[in-house]
Amino acid sequence: MSQKHSFQAEVAQLLHLVTHSLYSNKEIFLRELVSNASDACDKLRFEALENNALYEDAPTLEVRVSFDTEARTLTIADNGIGMSQQEAIDHLGTIAKSGTREFMHKLSGDQKADAQLIGQFGVGFYSGFIVADRITVESRRAGLPPEQGVRWVSGGAGDFEVEALTLPQRGTRVILHLREDATEYLSSWKLKSIIAKYSDHISLPILMRKETWKEGEDNQPGQMVLTDEWEPVNQASALWTRPRKDVTPEQYQAFYQQISHDSEAPLAWAHNRVEGSTEYTQLLFIPAHAPMDLWNREKSAGVKLYVKRVFIMDEAEALMPVYLRFVKGVIDSADLPLNVSRELLQESRDVRAIREGSTKRVLSMLEDLAKLEKDEAASEEDKAKYGKFWSEFGAVLKEGLGEDFGNRDRIAKLLRFHSTQADAPTVSLADYKARMKEGQEAIYYITADTLAAAKNSPQLEVFRKKGIEVLLMADRVDEWALNYLTEFDGTPLQSVAKGAVDLGTLQDEAEKKATEEAAETFKPVLERLKASLKDKAEDVRVTSRLVDSPACLVATDGGMSTQLARMLKQAGQ
Ligand code: ADP
Ligand code: MG
Repeated sequence: MSQKHSFQAEVAQLLHLVTHSLYSNKEIFLRELVSNASDACDKLRFEALENNALYEDAPTLEVRVSFDTEARTLTIADNGIGMSQQEAIDHLGTIAKSGTREFMHKLSGDQKADAQLIGQFGVGFYSGFIVADRITVESRRAGLPPEQGVRWVSGGAGDFEVEALTLPQRGTRVILHLREDATEYLSSWKLKSIIAKYSDHISLPILMRKETWKEGEDNQPGQMVLTDEWEPVNQASALWTRPRKDVTPEQYQAFYQQISHDSEAPLAWAHNRVEGSTEYTQLLFIPAHAPMDLWNREKSAGVKLYVKRVFIMDEAEALMPVYLRFVKGVIDSADLPLNVSRELLQESRDVRAIREGSTKRVLSMLEDLAKLEKDEAASEEDKAKYGKFWSEFGAVLKEGLGEDFGNRDRIAKLLRFHSTQADAPTVSLADYKARMKEGQEAIYYITADTLAAAKNSPQLEVFRKKGIEVLLMADRVDEWALNYLTEFDGTPLQSVAKGAVDLGTLQDEAEKKATEEAAETFKPVLERLKASLKDKAEDVRVTSRLVDSPACLVATDGGMSTQLARMLKQAGQ
């Protein structure tokens, strides 16, 4: 007896899009289904650490891809964790992934643009409907008795049907009933080339039936026919376990694209075997552009932890500090115990060592990119890389000033700012220092809601007049982050919006005298202003910081700046 269920509204909407957008890279459906099969095997391996019986009598995990020309079906089968009936209903009928949901919100309604977006992003299981007008999934969860298998069938419209099924073998078979225009996928050659392109790095074997040449009889032409023998069609060695010299840049890029679903090549990567008290392999990538959920500090991380090629977790903060959440990659350690809970792993000394080592590695990758920027011999493309990185991720990196005290100096060197002398965010603190006026004792900066507001602030008047550069900051995080950076290379940072900016020796005697005289002359005015503003202003004084404007608000030295106060007020504090 089969039961009918409706898709969650969002799924129906997504399916409509998938089936109505004809687009150029249809073939990504195979990447998505193979990666689900591989994930299912990873999950089995992980659960089996505590319950070896889950392997039943088939301990070798694998994915089989096969097709039937007559029936026009393409099947992707795995012997991974499988799904119970309820899991099939839940996981294949709703969108649980926040990433996919965010993707949906990005949809523009423009078919071509949206189609391209799916191509880059992948929509997981539902990608199958790009090439299939019906999908049958047969699955049995590892550990459940054979009669508790499930068959799930859908034509990709509003609903799907589910019924019980007896399946002697655990795992999942996804059977695609191919559309008329998807006949090209009924070909070993075609399938192999797609697998080589997207799934070569999958660390378990992907098998296909071997083909053999059969001579034609009675003057018929010969042809390739399928045999009953299965052969692996991928390398099946986790890319990161290979020596660096055996991996080509193309393979690194393809691996990056597989783990990140990013269609663009990464800006940089680092592949190292780290020796020492904790030994591990790290393969880390810096993407070229920010993902849609960059500002979600809670999202799962881009770095996955493996122990001897068994996937353990991708919990963000255990492996990478939050301010490096844009990094993608893999860390594999042989030293960690396999059979330990995720909670314990997070507290392990080895994991801490890995996190510290990986943080330093990422910072040195960034330092290398920053060096290329000034390297005469570098290509234009290489020179542009750090600027690209900064515009995508600079605001995130700044969080590190407050989060990672141990690396604060290194982070400070990586910062880039707009300034009163630079219209692009290209000024490093070292550049600024090199341009400081004689007698200038501080690095001056101003924070505001927008760059335009910063630039036009009356607080800058005196600095302009004297030709002193001021860093302009308008990222939301600046105010907070700059609290943690009080000096750079021995020079204090000073907000021009705080206290009586002391221009020190930059102010000449005549100016000082003029200010003092003015303070005398205006004493009665100041007294009156102070009295009438007594609950609102702590002090009212004559200043030399203004040139054209009559008055401005400043914060006290130790107090919050006006910008921070405004932010807190907005946040309801
Ligand atoms: P994602 O893989 O990112 O979670 P998908 O849309 O690709 O999203 O898959 C949705 C869910 O369906 C998976 O999270 C998993 O629970 C389940 N699933 C899909 N394919 C398989 C499979 N081959 N074996 C077991 N579960 C699967
Ligand atoms: Mg998936």
